[in-house]
Amino acid sequence: MHLRTLTLRGFKSFASATTLHLEPGITCVVGPNGSGKSNVVDALAWVMGEQGAKSLRGGTMEDVIFAGTAGRPPLGRAEVALTIDNTDGVLPIEYSEVTISRTLFRSGGSEYAINGTPCRLLDIQELLSDTGMGREMHVIVGQGQLDAVLRATPEDRRGFIEEAAGILKHRRRKEKALRK
Ligand code: ATP
Ligand code: MG
Repeated sequence: MHLRTLTLRGFKSFASATTLHLEPGITCVVGPNGSGKSNVVDALAWVMGEQGAKSLRGGTMEDVIFAGTAGRPPLGRAEVALTIDNTDGVLPIEYSEVTISRTLFRSGGSEYAINGTPCRLLDIQELLSDTGMGREMHVIVGQGQLDAVLRATPEDRRGFIEEAAGILKHRRRKEKALRK
């Protein structure tokens, strides 16, 4: 399983439809400051179901919609589509190619689809879970986060490891249970 294409349309700085073609292996995105590299990573997290505006470096979810520039008016919707090569059948669906897409309208509504068929966010989350791409499986190390790890206190560093190992949520639950 690998990512084939990522298409952004009206997502953050990508006002016009832009498609990135990805190959198996490592992909590098290079470009000057402010050219939209991190926005590409945000689009990837978003189409896979990210719900936190803060994780997407915005104040509200509407901030993912192209807000306009001096020469171009704002857009009314943001769309991202991710096409995954599923020839090895890792995704539990009978298609060798799977496209998941997400659209957010400035009026507030949002739409999700799998291979063009409208679905719920939950369907996308379930499709990706147990594949290494699921909500708690993929890892995005944000800009400045490495620095934060290096500067962290031993307690915070332990937290990072616990989170990576999937223990943190259980510890939080245990602490909550003991408080009752
Ligand atoms: P750096 O090398 O500094 O990390 P970068 O290539 O990662 O830069 P991004 O953070 O991806 O850059 O892009 C920032 C740009 O995206 C800014 O110019 C910002 O104005 C623009 N941008 C973010 N959200 C929107 C939006 N909703 N509408 C229009 N432009 C946006
Ligand atoms: Mg960046």
